[in-house]
Amino acid sequence: MLPGKVAIVTGGTRGIGFAVVKKFLDNGATVVFFGTREETVQAALTKLNHENPNYQVMGMYPDITNIAAVERAFADVKNRFGKIDIVVNNAGISSSESLYNYDEDNFDSIMDLNVKAVFNCSKVGAKYMKENGGGVILNTSSMVSIYGQAAGCGYPASKFAVNGLTKSLARELGRDHIRVNAVAPGVIHTDMVDSLPEEMIKPIISSIPIGRMGEPEDIANAFLFLASDMASFITGAILSVDGAGMC
Ligand code: NAD
Repeated sequence: MLPGKVAIVTGGTRGIGFAVVKKFLDNGATVVFFGTREETVQAALTKLNHENPNYQVMGMYPDITNIAAVERAFADVKNRFGKIDIVVNNAGISSSESLYNYDEDNFDSIMDLNVKAVFNCSKVGAKYMKENGGGVILNTSSMVSIYGQAAGCGYPASKFAVNGLTKSLARELGRDHIRVNAVAPGVIHTDMVDSLPEEMIKPIISSIPIGRMGEPEDIANAFLFLASDMASFITGAILSVDGAGMC
């Protein structure tokens, strides 16, 4: 579904991002994924090359909260592969502290990654897409962007902001043939969920009508659809992929 496309996926070393990287590669795209550290990027690359030595894949670890670092990384991708068609803003961190224990530094770090990095990569990516006649920006939102969350308020606040960027940039960039959409996952079986306290997760799973947590591939399938030409008239959408679960 993505032959000849060049995609950047942030937070691609594990979890949802890794599943998106693999899904895009399996559908003919060239993928550059970003992680935080050389070792985790290298480990993900080794895994992918082992699965299919013909994958066109590269890993990098720029500080995506810093726009100068994003500009350098995207310029490298453009120089190497000639264009950038798709950017998936997926890197994100969660939080579960109560408001009383929530310190300012934690609030700042969640906003830096979950919001500012989305802005940075969208801004720099859109410039290359416009030059190239169009493209697709996809964001990882969350079910908490609809319902809020009873602790760790910085996390849902950041995902409400992701929805705001998605809808606003869809309206701003439509004229440049750039579509902007988000996927809002429910509870997905990744390290992020494994790291949350059991008392927080258990009642959520038991309330999911479809009777299970989602798997990263469930989310990757939604990203594939939205990245592809099958979604050519879809922009500004927040697609819930959550088994009808509510939090
Ligand atoms: P994960 O913890 O398994 O992976 C997070 C990814 O983000 C990793 O690749 C990591 O390298 C990257 N990352 C973390 N800190 C970073 C930083 N400072 N700079 C750059 N990259 C960084 O998490 P996941 O569950 O796969 O989450 C991926 C996205 O999905 C996040 O945006 C998260 O908010 C969202 N999400 C997850 C769930 C879920 O249930 N797992 C539900 C809704 C939304």
